[in-house]
Amino acid sequence: MTEPLFRDDAYLRTCDATITQVNDRGGIVLDRTIFYATGGGQPGDSGHLELEDGSRVEIATTVYGDDRKEIVHVPAEGQTLPQAGAKVVVHLDWARRYRLMRVHTALHLLSVALPFPVTGGQIGEGGGRLDFDIPEATLDKEEIAAKVNEIAVGDHPVTTEWITDEELEANPGLVKTMSVKPPMGSGRVRLVRIGEDVDLQPCGGTHVSRTSEIGPLAVTKIEKKGRQNRRVRIRLED
Ligand SMILES: [Zn+2]
Repeated sequence: MTEPLFRDDAYLRTCDATITQVNDRGGIVLDRTIFYATGGGQPGDSGHLELEDGSRVEIATTVYGDDRKEIVHVPAEGQTLPQAGAKVVVHLDWARRYRLMRVHTALHLLSVALPFPVTGGQIGEGGGRLDFDIPEATLDKEEIAAKVNEIAVGDHPVTTEWITDEELEANPGLVKTMSVKPPMGSGRVRLVRIGEDVDLQPCGGTHVSRTSEIGPLAVTKIEKKGRQNRRVRIRLED
């Protein structure tokens, strides 16, 4: 079991940890980590592990182990692998992660500006997209961007709270994203709240702590994907 420190504090850039296992594919499992593991449309983190002798292991990406309890740090190719039991300092590629956090939080606001069921999504470093189930409609890029930017500059706090699986089942309206199942099964589900009531939905990703941190944003493209599906792409404008 890897303790996911990023879940309670997305702003941690380093932490101490111990290697609990190096698996047969060369993946490094730690007892605790600040690296987000790929999931919910958000890519896994990269960075490096610093060993006690000062040497480094570059981490290309991060994924969940088969049981989703362990977080596996995938080394870049051609490196000497450390041993289980070794103590390391985990260093996150913070510049990349912070952009992912800004894009991720912006997509929550996009789902507020366009209040339709979400059928998919993807988060990237400079931008991202959501797919919406929207009946025949004309969507205006400028109008949507203006709405998202207006909410963002409102500087709403982004907070998390937990509810039980049963409470979520009793409130199916909380689930906007039909393609990504909320992380249930552990008995409790993490909700991400923006402002008092700007947005509330289950989400396991990493977010900025205030919406003003997103910065200016553009809607770059709206594509028709099938009869009812519209793909809306956003980009950070700095
Ligand atoms: Zn989220």
